[in-house]
Amino acid sequence: MKRILISNRGEIALRLIRAFREFGYFSVLAYSEADRSSLPVKLSDAAICIGPPSAKGSYLNIPAIISAIEITGCDAVHPGYGFLAESPQFARVCKDAGIIFIGPSPEAMEKVGDKSVARSVAMSAGVPVVPGSTGFVSKEDLLRLAKEIGFPLILKASAGGGGKGMRIVQSFKELDDSFDTASNEALTAFGNSNLYLEKYVSEPRHIEIQFARDKFGNCISLFERECSIQRKHQKLIEESPSCAISPKLRKVLSDSALAIANQVGYVGVGTAEFLVTPEEMFYFIEINARIQVEHPVTEMVTGVDLVELQLIIAEDRPIPFSQEDVKITGHAIECRINAEDPRNNFCPSPGRVDQYIPPGGPGIRCDSHLYSGFKVVPYYDSLIAKVISYAPTRERAINRMERALYEMTIEGISTTIDFHREVLKNAFFRKGDYYTNFVQRRMGIK
Ligand code: ADP
Repeated sequence: MKRILISNRGEIALRLIRAFREFGYFSVLAYSEADRSSLPVKLSDAAICIGPPSAKGSYLNIPAIISAIEITGCDAVHPGYGFLAESPQFARVCKDAGIIFIGPSPEAMEKVGDKSVARSVAMSAGVPVVPGSTGFVSKEDLLRLAKEIGFPLILKASAGGGGKGMRIVQSFKELDDSFDTASNEALTAFGNSNLYLEKYVSEPRHIEIQFARDKFGNCISLFERECSIQRKHQKLIEESPSCAISPKLRKVLSDSALAIANQVGYVGVGTAEFLVTPEEMFYFIEINARIQVEHPVTEMVTGVDLVELQLIIAEDRPIPFSQEDVKITGHAIECRINAEDPRNNFCPSPGRVDQYIPPGGPGIRCDSHLYSGFKVVPYYDSLIAKVISYAPTRERAINRMERALYEMTIEGISTTIDFHREVLKNAFFRKGDYYTNFVQRRMGIK
């Protein structure tokens, strides 16, 4: 690979441009009209406009992206996360056109991309899943399955993602209405109305395993990320290692992730997500077949550059280290800073950033596409910065993050910086005593 087109925007586009420059690749950024004055456009080696602000017309527009790849003479494409990153259709079109798609094959993506299919794959790899339906549920089967599994239940969109397309059901009388609402929502959001059913696990932790597998079958775990600080099933803070994971459980979760990756012949970097109960029971929930928003925490504690690893694997080279070489050293935490107003139900807060001062100093990494005078546009997700702190211990990583957020200045729009500062000083968070319901239960936020 020599020239790589980036079909994404924001902080991840910048992250990729930086990696490509360091590792000697030419970067071409495909951008929408709304992102014309963005930092990724400025810092990439070349940039090409692919369409109007709406994601449908630009970042999700396969013909426009393929044309951009051809016009600019690229031999590969990196989809980042979101948009087309997990589209088997996009991966297949690229493959057919002789373009390297930096991600797993369309076949592997098909097996893990649909969440209800991934459940069956996990079961056949001997990995426990949350008790639930096998494949999609029809309205006819709903009552029987609900009786079998028992309440509370969670209805989930097979094609869902980003914490969307889920509905908790407490009783029989809510069942029918919840099904109709959830399948309509799934159809609107993901273009696919298929739903599946799981037992709703109360007070779990969300633990995920970062793995990488090359085309020679070398398969490596880069261990866990703890992602239980969430609002509306969307992650807000991630850390590695998790306070709740013993070395034994780390090994079992890693082996489970690798078993699934081997089962589908996965080639690339990916994440297996699990729910873990206080009794150390664990259940697979899904695979994310792409680079994750929270990948930097793993990079900080393992010293492995995950984008570099993606490039190595995409070039059919073997992973240049073995499982024994991967060690967790120190502790890393990531806060996702969103352009949202926490005092107004986390409502998106687009607009002009009058002043931006990123945090810095020892052990702080800030991945952000902001600059003073930048306009946050309303068309895409509200992530504007990721602040990652790294220190020898968890306590010092938390203190360091508090110091960084104290320094960070974003004026002109509302952000979630103060929300994060509240979490960091919470006694339960400090003790590591938290589950996915932390924000609701310990902070009283819906
Ligand atoms: P998405 O793909 O939208 O991120 P996931 O399946 O990964 O959806 O679930 C996101 C979050 O929703 C989990 O981290 C957890 O907080 C919650 N969740 C999902 N399934 C269950 C379940 N069966 N029981 C309890 N919580 C769940």
